Amino acid sequence: MVGAGGAGLPTHVKAAATVDTVLVNGASCEPLLMSDPYLMEAEIETVIRGLKAVMECTGASRGIICLKGKHDKAMQSVRAAVARHAGSGLEAFELGDFYPAGDEHVLVHEVLGKTVPERGIPLQIGAVVSNVESLYNIALAMDGKPVTHRYLTVAGEVRRPMVVKVPVGTLVSDVLAFAGGPTIDDYRVVDGGPMMGRVLPDVHQPVTKTTSGLLVLPPDHTVVAGKTMPAERLRRITNSVCCQCTRCTDLCPRNLLGHSLHPHKLMRIPESLVATSPAAREALLCSECGICEKFACPMMVSPREVNAQIKQVLMREGVKWEPTGKELVTSPYRSSRKIPTSRLIQRLNLDRYYGHPEYAGEFTPGVVHVCLGQHIGAPAQCVVAVGDTVRQGSLLGDIPEKAMGARVHASIDGTVESIANGVVIIRA
Ligand code: SF4
Ligand code: SF4
Repeated sequence: MVGAGGAGLPTHVKAAATVDTVLVNGASCEPLLMSDPYLMEAEIETVIRGLKAVMECTGASRGIICLKGKHDKAMQSVRAAVARHAGSGLEAFELGDFYPAGDEHVLVHEVLGKTVPERGIPLQIGAVVSNVESLYNIALAMDGKPVTHRYLTVAGEVRRPMVVKVPVGTLVSDVLAFAGGPTIDDYRVVDGGPMMGRVLPDVHQPVTKTTSGLLVLPPDHTVVAGKTMPAERLRRITNSVCCQCTRCTDLCPRNLLGHSLHPHKLMRIPESLVATSPAAREALLCSECGICEKFACPMMVSPREVNAQIKQVLMREGVKWEPTGKELVTSPYRSSRKIPTSRLIQRLNLDRYYGHPEYAGEFTPGVVHVCLGQHIGAPAQCVVAVGDTVRQGSLLGDIPEKAMGARVHASIDGTVESIANGVVIIRA
């Protein structure tokens, strides 16, 4: 199993901690992504079984399911389930509808009123944050079923926007065809949400354990344009156009929590000094949420991208964050500077695509391309050969000796057609 939330951290690493509280991250804060609310509405008992398992592993006495009140059916389902499980430490928490409510640091602050240390993890204040689908998968794993499927939101310029369950390894082109196909001839597909997702090079890419959504958008759409400009050009423009208005810092969710992150200052550090400048280390505190780029900056440039590039240099040079020891003081303006999702959707020009699409059931394609590296850590080591017959759930790749990793399993019944470049192709 890997965390279904996006980073792909093998789940057993997180579940080995000892904490007081497990937070279920059902914020679903990326505009348009709706599979987590669907799971909380339709599969809450399975999610709770996974939550109770993580509470038991970590010794937590509280399990808090966090979601936005606007997902009213999911909220009703969660509240009813919490009432059914009264006495087992479960609670429901209604989050405000702002972005990025699902950022782990922001979520912990909203629910527990505590601030995770700079460059820290929730474990340091006695909490573990788990994604909804991760908990669902844990419950299935306890029944001996490995992760073979993924719930996805398909939205944007498709004929039938939907939440759908597909085998891991399904090609994006097959998912789009199941959703009735694109409504426009020329389009790009964003893997993930509009804020933090990435534009796929083509539609022949496979769904992985961390794919949460597929957004089909015109190539000149605001969301796509910011993600496809060459990074170097974006940085050059950003450096030269920035007027030092400080809006990016004023609205930065991490700065508002008291972290020493000042994106406007990072814009002024010459590229040649990045590796040696102590000030550049602030970039390591950036979550790359994109508020500065997509909402704050009046010049429409990208502090997020500058931060990402600085981070890459620092990580390559082995430069680490050194704790400052300062007391983290939440900004008195924090509550008034939360970005309402509705305004973000307007700013991103996504109004026409917003909605709660129906669950379209399970789609099974004729072929899957299963990647052996879908997680942080070492890729799985292939244990099958071309021509082997596999069943859904058969082991395809194992964790290398003494390495951090996650197993990979066949997602459909079929025959191994090829193994190349870290991808196992299975034909039904
Ligand atoms: S992307 Fe921008 S707004 Fe978000 S944490 Fe980084 S600097 Fe702050
Ligand atoms: S908001 Fe834009 S223009 Fe203003 S300081 Fe930040 S990067 Fe510069």
